[in-house]
Amino acid sequence: MKRLIFCMVFILIITSSCIKKNPESVSRSDFLLNTIVEISLYEDEKTSNQMLDEMFEEIRRCENKYSRYTQESEMARINENRGCQVKVSEDTMEIIEKSLYFSEISGGLFDITIGALVDLWNINGDNPRIPQQEEIDAILKDIDYTKIILDKENNTISIPDTTMQIDTGAIAKGYITDRLVMYLNEKKVDSAILNLGGNLYLYGRKKDGSLWKVGIRDPFGLQGEYLGTVSVENLSVVTSGIYERYFEENGERYHHILNPHTGFPENNMLASVSILAESSTLADGLSTTASLLGPEEAMALIENMDGVEAIMITKDKKIYLSSGIKNGEIPFNLINKEYTVIK
Ligand code: ADP
Ligand code: MG
Repeated sequence: MKRLIFCMVFILIITSSCIKKNPESVSRSDFLLNTIVEISLYEDEKTSNQMLDEMFEEIRRCENKYSRYTQESEMARINENRGCQVKVSEDTMEIIEKSLYFSEISGGLFDITIGALVDLWNINGDNPRIPQQEEIDAILKDIDYTKIILDKENNTISIPDTTMQIDTGAIAKGYITDRLVMYLNEKKVDSAILNLGGNLYLYGRKKDGSLWKVGIRDPFGLQGEYLGTVSVENLSVVTSGIYERYFEENGERYHHILNPHTGFPENNMLASVSILAESSTLADGLSTTASLLGPEEAMALIENMDGVEAIMITKDKKIYLSSGIKNGEIPFNLINKEYTVIK
C-alpha cells in the first residue's frame, strides 16, 4: 500500500530520476554523459525541437571534450600526455579551474586528480572490486590537485608524469547544465526542466506561474521513492548520495565518492546531500564536497555562502536543512515520516 501511495504521488512531481509528463511540453531524452539526459521545453513544438537539437548537440560537444573516456577528448589528451603541456579550449580550462575551488574549500578532499583511484575501484564499471592496500597506496601518493599546471596565457594544462589521471565526473554535469542555462537565457525561454542524470535545473517557473516541485530521493528507498519535496524556481538541485553508484561485499556498501586521503569510499554519517543554487556547477561541486566533509562541516560551509541551500540526510534518517529552507524561503515538505527533520 505504501508503495502504491508513493507511486501515485510520484507521477505528480519531478524527482531527480524522472520527470512529469506534461502535454504542454516537448521532451527529449538520450543516454549521454554515461547517464540519462532529459530536457523538457514549453515552447511551441517546432521551436522546442530546434532548441532541443542545439542543446543535445552542445551536450555531445561537451562530452567529446571533457570525458576522459572519449578518445581524443581534451581530458583524455591531458591524461595521456602527462608531463607535457596540452593545448585546451577555454571551457576545458574553466571547468578544471572551477574544480580547484572545491579542492581549496575542502582541504583537498575534493580532488579531480583522483581518476586512477576511481579506475582502480571501478565502481562505475561492470566489475567493481575492493583493491589491495598496496594498489591503493601506489596511487594515493600521486593524487594532488596542486600539481596541475594551468597556463592561461598559452591555454595549456599539464599534469605530472605519474599515475595521475584527471576525472571531472564530480562537476562536469553541473558545468554543462550551466552552459545549457546560458543558451536558454539567450533564447529568452520562460520555462524548462534540465535533468542531466539527476543533476536538475528548474528554469523559470511552471507555465501556470507556480513553482516547480522537486522530489528529494529517499536514500534508503527504491528509485522513484522520495522522502519530501522542495518548491523552487530558477534553481539547480543536485544530489550526491551513497545509493547512486555502489557495490556491496560482505554486507558493506562501497559507493562512488572516494576519500583521496584514505583511498576508500567516504564513510561519514551522510546518506545523501542535495544542494540548491543558481549555479549548477556550484551545486554539483558542493554536493560532492559536502558528501566528503560530513554533515557538520558541510552545513557550516553552506551557511556561509549566499544563495546556497542544502538538504542533508544522515544514515540514521535525520534531515538537516539549511536556514533558507528551515525558514520557509524555499518550502520543504516532508512526506516520509520515518525521517525526522532536525529543528
Ligand atoms: P554523480 O556522478 O553520481 O552525479 P557526484 O557529482 O557526487 O555524483 O560525483 C561522483 C564522481 O566524482 C565519481 O563517480 C568520480 O568520478 C568522481 N569522484 C569520486 N571521488 C571524488 C573526489 N574525492 N573528488 C573529486 N571527484 C571525485
Ligand atoms: Mg557532484
